[in-house]
Amino acid sequence: MSELSQRISALSPERRQLLEQLRAKKRAAEKAPLSEPFSLVSEEDRAKLPPDLADAYPLTAVQLGMLYHMELSPDGSSTPTYHNVNSFHLKSRFDSGAFEAAVARVVARHPIMRTAFDLTRYSEPLQLVYRTAYLSIEVDDLRGLDAEEGQRRIDEFVLEENRRLVDLSVPPLIHYRVHRRTEDTFQLTLTEPHAISDGWSTMSTLAEIFEDYGALARGEAPPERQPLATTYRDFVFLERQILASPQARDFWRSKLDELEPERLVRWPRMPGAGPQFERPGADHKPSITFDPWVLLGLERLARQAGAPLKSVLLAAHCKVMGISSGRTDVVTGLTTHGRLTEADGEQVRGLFLNTLPFRLDLGSGSWLELVERTFAGELEVMPYRRYPLAAIQRLRGGQVLFESAFSYLHFHTVHNVMRSGSVDVFGHGNSDLSVTHFPLAATFSRDPVKEVAITLVLEKNDPGLAFEQVDLLMGYYRRVIESMAAEPLAHHDVHCYLSDAEIEQALSVSRPIRPRVAELLHERFTARAAAKPRAIAVVDPGSTEPESPAPATRLTYGRLDELSSRLAGRLRALGVGPEVRVGLLLPRSLDIPIAILGVLKAGGCYVPMDPAYPPARLEFLLADSGAKVLVTSGDLEASLPLDRLGNELAIIRLDQGRERRPPAKKLEQRRESGATPDNAAYVIYTSGSTGQPKGVVITHASAIRLFDSTDRWFGFDSKDVWTLFHSFAFDFSVWEIWGALLYGGRLVVVPYLTSRSPAAFRELLAREKVTVLNQTPSAFRQLIRAEGEADEEAAPLALRSVVFGGEALELQTLAPWFARYGDGATRPGPRLVNMYGITETTVHVTYRPLGQADLASTGSAIGGPIPDLALLLVDPQLHPVPVAVPGELLVGGAGLARGYLGRPALTAERFVPDPFGSEPGARLYRSGDLARRLPDGEIEYLGRIDHQVKIRGFRIELGENEAALVTQPQVAE
Ligand code: AMP
Ligand code: MG
Repeated sequence: MSELSQRISALSPERRQLLEQLRAKKRAAEKAPLSEPFSLVSEEDRAKLPPDLADAYPLTAVQLGMLYHMELSPDGSSTPTYHNVNSFHLKSRFDSGAFEAAVARVVARHPIMRTAFDLTRYSEPLQLVYRTAYLSIEVDDLRGLDAEEGQRRIDEFVLEENRRLVDLSVPPLIHYRVHRRTEDTFQLTLTEPHAISDGWSTMSTLAEIFEDYGALARGEAPPERQPLATTYRDFVFLERQILASPQARDFWRSKLDELEPERLVRWPRMPGAGPQFERPGADHKPSITFDPWVLLGLERLARQAGAPLKSVLLAAHCKVMGISSGRTDVVTGLTTHGRLTEADGEQVRGLFLNTLPFRLDLGSGSWLELVERTFAGELEVMPYRRYPLAAIQRLRGGQVLFESAFSYLHFHTVHNVMRSGSVDVFGHGNSDLSVTHFPLAATFSRDPVKEVAITLVLEKNDPGLAFEQVDLLMGYYRRVIESMAAEPLAHHDVHCYLSDAEIEQALSVSRPIRPRVAELLHERFTARAAAKPRAIAVVDPGSTEPESPAPATRLTYGRLDELSSRLAGRLRALGVGPEVRVGLLLPRSLDIPIAILGVLKAGGCYVPMDPAYPPARLEFLLADSGAKVLVTSGDLEASLPLDRLGNELAIIRLDQGRERRPPAKKLEQRRESGATPDNAAYVIYTSGSTGQPKGVVITHASAIRLFDSTDRWFGFDSKDVWTLFHSFAFDFSVWEIWGALLYGGRLVVVPYLTSRSPAAFRELLAREKVTVLNQTPSAFRQLIRAEGEADEEAAPLALRSVVFGGEALELQTLAPWFARYGDGATRPGPRLVNMYGITETTVHVTYRPLGQADLASTGSAIGGPIPDLALLLVDPQLHPVPVAVPGELLVGGAGLARGYLGRPALTAERFVPDPFGSEPGARLYRSGDLARRLPDGEIEYLGRIDHQVKIRGFRIELGENEAALVTQPQVAE
């Protein structure tokens, strides 16, 4: 005996009776309605109400929203939004008298069975509850037909019902239709606007009818049912109350702060992409039923998390939304109900649903932990769940906050009745769920007949979502949910949830063929020089600037070979050989190719140093690269604090034939260079986020294969004229210099001032008959302008190829160029090509020829990888991302730098082991660039993940500027 009952039994009979009375009063008080009939209707409206009403109250915001979307459905649409048709195949004799009596009891007991809407006649839309209403049940007798014909008639009827909207002004708004199939079976179809009833209400009402019908048909008395103490009016009251609550408003306002609204990823419609978007007669609602072991696993996970099954499924849904959007901070619509749960709250019928913005940071813990956080998130919004979505959206200026919605249906009370034997439900067929207005709705349900199974139905209500996308989504749900059920303690981001086919597709762009490189850069040059020594190799057009006039100069292949060999000899004498770095501090001049070739011939590796750099940066480059020798000219070395650099540094002055030798110790002399293709050819520095630039080490093999692997696209030859437009400290110059010298072509060194003047540069291009132009899009835009402004008589351009790189290309900016020169495909004219690339991957990674047709596209297409490179788009765990989802671009293959000079930690961070690599030791470079792959395989550049920016093609990590700024005493932050 409990303590309480012990105490009660110890009381005198009078005291006990009094106590009983008090307890009854308390129970009654708990059941008391929150509002009085008609109390929510204004005086004026009340005066206009018809006399035969039991009650009247306004519609809720959610009801109005549903009616609005229903009205918005296109006329004659086969599936109007929020118009529900449910059809059940029942195993029971049909007794029309008993059935009508059972329905009449339900109509008498539940106000919603007597409710109609009036949307116009009152100061606000009202629901009118009549004292009586008659629900007539039409019966079609199909018993004479064969089963197939009977089914066809039913299907036809259901289809018609789908189209036929209910007249909202006549109660009841819920319609039943019976089709007698055989002596022992019949079909019951019900049609209703969703605004009058939610799934729970509909199923509970049916269960009540079946139970009463079962008794009546057996000639028994139906079960006694208590009249209801609360009504739907009380729910309307609560909605009004929460709408007036500043606390609720503040809660939602703070929840919306910094919330990034959900936008589903939509595949762009490609020409000829028909079947992805159009599927005649296709089911808009693919579904999947999970094996029973999955439900057992999910229930175990729910128990472990101390959460309901719904939270497990919601966590799965959020995870899938994360996979399919590339977001880790997910927002979705959570369908909840605001039913009054005290007293007989769950007996009351009506529409109690609301869809709330639900935000979940997926993080990286276990499934268990994710479910716990999901449940905590649900608990947090619970007290405010009756705040209608429309009002929440108004707090953000009416903005749509999410495009996907989650709901979980489990009509547990109904199951009991359905299985109690009065009526046996065979199937719950045809159109079992309503169409919502959300572009994508995921509805999980326990099968009302076979409780053991969990079913997911995906509903696509947006023609912009491709059918294939929804099919793929279904696969993510399946793999995610199976993983949750099988390994609840596994980290939810260790697996890739894409299908094998998707992974296959993602990796198909990344099966690099390994080139065999047996040559060194300068060897190939020397072969060209030997073949045509008198061909012009380099031109310095000089300058006609009054301040700094300079004569034009040029070098033949023979002369360049000779001068560079001479320098190589001097370098070798200073100990230069494989992996010995030589700084080159040189102005734009013929000295650059001489010095580069000289260093390579000596077996060394060149470190370009642009004299325009500040002295401190030059000093850093020399020190960081550990250069043993500096090659320079004129008085450039004056800008260096040579005394600080110490005596270790040997200096060769190209214009003076003099050199400074370190007096201290004599370096070992070398005769043969001994370099192999795997030795470093150059170190180019790029901006670094930690405040210091970092040196990227590239081998001969990487540089040579760049040309071999792109040769079939360009077919460069000795007739080509290239410009050295870019600073030789910028890796675009590698392409420019070797593009000329490896093919026996001609390199025109662009004087600095000319490179800064589009008009002068255009003039140079014409005069020197340049055929290959490499530009950042921003420089090319200026050139297009200069081209537009050039004289009528100006010499024409001789361009054959224009290669873009270094920064994102806005295709539309090419329109004036195409208008003038065509795209090389339709009429002769230069071919334009976009090449995405990175210093760490040897200049270029991708190739994308551009044509006039591309002007229509808004993205920045970068095409596919050079055949000996791998290209992958991945999430932060390095799993491939789905089509059209932004991912980080990873590059593998033969072009990868050896790493960052003297920075093993940074190298390990950016050059990661390739988990898919077919070769041992294969690496992938994490570019920090965001891109997406379109359904046709095209790759579109999207921007940066980090704070790196490009200014006229110059790569700048803002962290470096920040680090420099905070060293200033005046700058705190
Ligand atoms: P850099 O190492 O100086 O060549 O800079 C490499 C970066 O430039 C890449 O990580 C991209 O952010 C950007 N980039 C290079 N080429 C392209 C391109 N064709 N389109 C868009 N961005 C590009
Ligand atoms: Mg580049």
